[in-house]
Amino acid sequence: ATPMSIMVGTGRGARAGVLVKKAEALEVLEKVNVIVVDKTGTLTEGKPRLQKTISLSGVDEKDVLRFAASLEKSSEHPLAAAIIKGAEEENVRLAAVDSFESVTGKGIFGTIEGKKVLVGNTKLMQDNNVDFPADGKADELRLEGQTVMFVAVDGEPAGLVGVADTIKESAREAINELHRQKIKVVMMTGDNAKTAGAVARKLNIDQVFADILPDQKADKVKQLQAQGKIVAMAGDGVNDAPALAQADVGIAMGTGTDVAMQSADITLLKGDLRGILRAKTLSRATMQNIR
Ligand code: ADP
Ligand code: MG
Repeated sequence: ATPMSIMVGTGRGARAGVLVKKAEALEVLEKVNVIVVDKTGTLTEGKPRLQKTISLSGVDEKDVLRFAASLEKSSEHPLAAAIIKGAEEENVRLAAVDSFESVTGKGIFGTIEGKKVLVGNTKLMQDNNVDFPADGKADELRLEGQTVMFVAVDGEPAGLVGVADTIKESAREAINELHRQKIKVVMMTGDNAKTAGAVARKLNIDQVFADILPDQKADKVKQLQAQGKIVAMAGDGVNDAPALAQADVGIAMGTGTDVAMQSADITLLKGDLRGILRAKTLSRATMQNIR
């Protein structure tokens, strides 16, 4: 393609909410046969809401929420925002945090009222030797598509909180069209396999990589490429950036982080995955103009 044709294509693209940084990306996009999509913030709105608080071993339910929300005040994760908002809606008064540390892809821990509080996933609890009862409560929430976070206080299980995020209708439409074009859709998330599976089933996703730590996302893309696949990756988070750079075409959500956009070839300004299909149509139209 001549530089001129790419400019026309990208100009039209910008009006449709698609920003193409590297013009060659449109040509590679034509050849893509697998698209890997991050869950939170890409397939879902990225604005999870608190659904459920469960207390364990005689701990007051309000206290579970109070400890969790107080600690999450120090986190910038969307899951943290859901817990804080939920606590506010239940008029829970938050306590001061004396110190804290975030653990990427796992959660957060810190000291509140002299107690060591942990909020995060199974991995965080395992790392800190906290055993939660295998009573099926967490799985019950996960099978509804909720993300479950465990709350521990002074090394003892205190409770669980479940949050859920709305699936984007535009994502459903985009996936249906990608399938019509014989493109395989893979979900990749740091979330639990059961939660991921519940969301994947609702969207007819072909394959799920769950429980993926942030530094493993790029490796998963590499594995698919080693199988001869031409891979596009769509994501929004800081943790998606290396995978976006590794993919044959990196696609960032304009509603996401700057780091993701910097690592991507294409940005979907409104966070609408249907932009991928618009980019493909544009690319085809542009090529025909030249020939
Ligand atoms: P994703 O790949 O879906 O964008 P992340 O890698 O950011 O997810 O997080 C993976 C998992 O780590 C979350 O599903 C959650 O269980 C846990 N986690 C991360 N940050 C926090 C936090 N601030 N509080 C509680 N749990 C967290
Ligand atoms: Mg995300």
